[in-house]
Amino acid sequence: MFAEKQRAELCKIARMLYEQGLVSGTAGNLSVRLDEKTMLITPSGVHKGMLAPEDLIVQNFDLTVVSGTRKPTKEAAMHSKIYELRPDIEAVLHTHPAAATAFAVCGEVLPANCLVEVDSVIGSMGLAGYAPAGSRELVLEIERVVPEHDVIFLQNHGLITCGKNLMSAFCKMESVENAAKTLFMAERMGRVQFFRD
Ligand SMILES: [Zn+2]
Repeated sequence: MFAEKQRAELCKIARMLYEQGLVSGTAGNLSVRLDEKTMLITPSGVHKGMLAPEDLIVQNFDLTVVSGTRKPTKEAAMHSKIYELRPDIEAVLHTHPAAATAFAVCGEVLPANCLVEVDSVIGSMGLAGYAPAGSRELVLEIERVVPEHDVIFLQNHGLITCGKNLMSAFCKMESVENAAKTLFMAERMGRVQFFRD
């Protein structure tokens, strides 16, 4: 099967995201760059815990389908735009993890000085303004934010993490959600202190 290794890895990362509670059911979409004009991406409507290699779709960055029988996700344009604008990015994950998405609902990213790992693992974070899922307006927001940031909070929607491979994008997703949960707990204790370098 074409791109067999990438298909297996994408399915493995999807399962890990599901098992860690970082993606619910059929929500979200995950992709990996295949070359300078194509990507391998999860289809619409398939549960992330049950993805099979043959479910994945090869799409050009202009969104024409090269191979695959499943329905393409309406959010594919966010992925292709990131690959076009950032040649250094090889993998893009988009999900709606609960704690991180709560920040996005409030129109905020994580404060960089709440935990040491925010700077060392997650890196710089940007906020894309609200636009409906799958809309051209949302792609324009991504276009504005992604040149400077590997982690993007989508207002009232969810999270995107980008990386030089699937594992690095996964680690950022996991770290953002963990940091968001930690901050909620600390706020509940009522004595949050931010560090200064
Ligand atoms: Zn979404």
